[in-house]
Amino acid sequence: MPRIVQLPSSVITKIAAGEVIERPASVVKELLENSVDAGSTRIEIDLEQGGTELIRVVDDGCGIEPDDLMLAFASHATSKLRDADDLFRIGTMGFRGEALASIAGVARVTLQSRAAGQASGAELFSSGGDAAELRPWNGAQGTRIEVRHLFFNTPVRKKFLKSHSTELGHIVEIVQRIGLAHPTLHLVLRHNARLVLEVPGSAGMLDRIGLFFGNEVREKLYAIDADQGPVKLTGWIADPSCERGNAKLQYIFLNGRWIRDRSLGHALQEAYRGLLMTGRYAIGFLFLTMPPDQVDVNVHPTKSEVRFRDAQAMYHLVRAALKHRLAAQNLVPRLQVPPEFNREMTSSPDAGPTMFESPRREINENTTAPWETSLVREAPAVSRRAIQIHDSYLVVETSEGMIVIDQHALHERILFEQLRRRIRDGQLEVQRLLIPEPIDLPADQAACVLEAKEEMKLLGLEVEDFGGGTVLLASYPALLGRVSPVDILKSAIDGLMNRERTPSKEQMLHLLLATMACKAAVKAGDKLTPEEVSHLMELRDLAEDSHHCPHGRPTSLTFSKHELEKQFRRI
Ligand code: ADP
Ligand code: MG
Repeated sequence: MPRIVQLPSSVITKIAAGEVIERPASVVKELLENSVDAGSTRIEIDLEQGGTELIRVVDDGCGIEPDDLMLAFASHATSKLRDADDLFRIGTMGFRGEALASIAGVARVTLQSRAAGQASGAELFSSGGDAAELRPWNGAQGTRIEVRHLFFNTPVRKKFLKSHSTELGHIVEIVQRIGLAHPTLHLVLRHNARLVLEVPGSAGMLDRIGLFFGNEVREKLYAIDADQGPVKLTGWIADPSCERGNAKLQYIFLNGRWIRDRSLGHALQEAYRGLLMTGRYAIGFLFLTMPPDQVDVNVHPTKSEVRFRDAQAMYHLVRAALKHRLAAQNLVPRLQVPPEFNREMTSSPDAGPTMFESPRREINENTTAPWETSLVREAPAVSRRAIQIHDSYLVVETSEGMIVIDQHALHERILFEQLRRRIRDGQLEVQRLLIPEPIDLPADQAACVLEAKEEMKLLGLEVEDFGGGTVLLASYPALLGRVSPVDILKSAIDGLMNRERTPSKEQMLHLLLATMACKAAVKAGDKLTPEEVSHLMELRDLAEDSHHCPHGRPTSLTFSKHELEKQFRRI
């Protein structure tokens, strides 16, 4: 075993930076928090190449005294904490005095600042933690920080960075959190000199929600206002009809800080129990305030997780307040089926709540059914003796017994294979739009779509960046018939954003294919004619894998003759 040595400070800084600075978005988070702590009213952020080349944050806060500039880069140097007791009455975003030191350790940083009431300011440059000399600087009051070439001296970490648009997406998320937590801040975010987001200081909370997440969310919100002793809970939750495929739109803030809290997230979901399908997530923006001594914010390096003194009371407060609010809205539960039945019914996620909602879709004999383009009818349909039940399932006799088929899951699989085959054979027919259709998306979603651009193109979905969260849709696969390409795009985004990691090209293609197939397939609740039923059965015989839908769930359940005989006590 080698002898023990004290590590040099440069290594210590890099280790510390590893905890706090994971990607450009972590830098943005720390810099924005510092600007907020400095009492800024306006913060401008400029990025180049997803923040990997440049992150510049300019604020109009109190600034830093020239004598303190050197210290700002030192680790465990802070103006926000004096003794250990202060740790239990934290009122600022930062307090560990680690962020600037960590950032400076893994990038080239220029820090320029002019303190309030001072005639001039000073600047300091540091590369990989080695600071140069202090120089005078004559900018406006406030602080201007430029972080260039992040991770230039930690190549391994640099390798872990994702594409620029993914990194930008993470940054947008951070900016939105800060924008929601501090609803009077004016925020400007630019990427490669293009405006991505601008939130005026006068935009209230609802305006911000509308701006970040779209007006369809904003228009379906119910206000929450509850308290328990010194703890206050305010915010908004969305009508269950406005749900999502992931938990991204569940925001929880504590004393002006965004936090991740599994227990409170669970409380939010629980309040919607019976109002959402399995696998669907509620939307909520919850703001908790409480005296600082009721919570420990010093349990996580980035302070995004906290420990409540009474976590159970918080859970109950959130769940009860939300449940109460939803009850006042008189919402009719959509799920009244036993759980095991429910599992069967949800075999494809996007069939969605329509399954449980009457009225059923009527098929007009005179118009083309939406899937007609894909159910090619050449040969006369051979009767397979399948019958449709509940407008959702096909029951058919087989030599071994009988099977019950989920019509949506089966059709989804068939379309999935057709699409895949046509792409493989280069025979996908593409429908060009005469005028590309502009689609407004939240900035992170736009980034996500643009990142999947190549894969989408393979599938006939051509998207172009139009700037400022708008993408242009120029074409879509003809196979989709009358299914709205915008719908397809939005579900694909839902699926893509749901993932923790950036999916591989292969996975992305699979996901897009599955989404298209799901959208274009017949739904549960669609009444099929006997011809359509037998045609679906014919296609089933031709499918490579007719037993699983593209999401991997079964398309049919088998009941063997033997089993039937056993159940009826015939044997
Ligand atoms: P912390 O925020 O935990 O105190 P940081 O390393 O983030 O630690 O910052 C160190 C110190 O630098 C802060 O305590 C603050 O005094 C000063 N500082 C950093 N950024 C700014 C800013 N934008 N405006 C004013 N002061 C700042
Ligand atoms: Mg800080």
